[in-house]
Amino acid sequence: MTPEPATICIGCWQQLHLPVPLRGPFSVPLRMFGIRPSRMNPNTCTICEMAFTKVMKARAVTIDATVMFADLRGYTALTQHVDSTRMMSLLDAFYDDCSTAIWRYDGLLNKTIGDAVLAIFNFFR
Ligand SMILES: [Zn+2]
Repeated sequence: MTPEPATICIGCWQQLHLPVPLRGPFSVPLRMFGIRPSRMNPNTCTICEMAFTKVMKARAVTIDATVMFADLRGYTALTQHVDSTRMMSLLDAFYDDCSTAIWRYDGLLNKTIGDAVLAIFNFFR
C-alpha cells in the first residue's frame, strides 16, 4: 500500500525547519515560483531537488549518504523472449514498485538506466 503523500517538504523541514507546502491550497502560490513536488521524491520540493543536483555535480565534496543500485535479474535473456511492448510495461511496473519503496524510506530516485534504478538515501540528514 502506498503511504499518504506528505503535505510539507520533508527535506526543507529536516534541514531548515521550514514548512514548505507541497499539496493543498497553501502550495498554490509557491507553484507560481516553480516550487512543486520533486520527481525524485514527491515528498520533497524542487528547491531540495536543486540542492541535491548541485551536490551531485560538485567534484570534491564528501557527503554521508546511502546509495542503492538495483536491476532486474535475467533482463538481457528476458529481452530475447519478450516483445518490446511487454518489456516496456514490465519495466514500468518495476520502476513503479521501486519508486514506491524508495519514497517510503525518504530516498531520492536519482536515475533509471535501462533495467536499473539508482537511489540515494539519508541525503536530508
Ligand atoms: Zn524542500
